Amino acid sequence: MEATILIVDDDVSLCHALSEELTEVGYITHWVTNGDDAVDYVLGKSIDVMLLDLKMPNKDGFEVLKELEKYKLGCKIIVLTAYADVRSAVAAAKLGATDFINKPYDFDELLITIRKVMQSSSD
Ligand SMILES: [Mg+2]
Repeated sequence: MEATILIVDDDVSLCHALSEELTEVGYITHWVTNGDDAVDYVLGKSIDVMLLDLKMPNKDGFEVLKELEKYKLGCKIIVLTAYADVRSAVAAAKLGATDFINKPYDFDELLITIRKVMQSSSD
């Protein structure tokens, strides 16, 4: 069974690149470029993992997390945060993020993190 991943990042070229890489290894991907669309998407469709950029104009990643906290959604959220921004990662975890990866991302590390959070959902 293929897992579905929603990429949320205001950087369109990152969305394209990441979507292509994840599709190549067998994931079904969708992407949106702002927080409002991210919330709309996950409330309307079922996804397994959300890759969420923290820094976006208007509704940022923290606001998306806060908004989604109200709903008991089954998806896991991995936040994308600037390198060494530990404080943001901790704040995101408190709001329900399952894990985080640094930007610029290392694709192999990202795959490991995706597999890890998906395993954690089955127990
Ligand atoms: Mg951004």
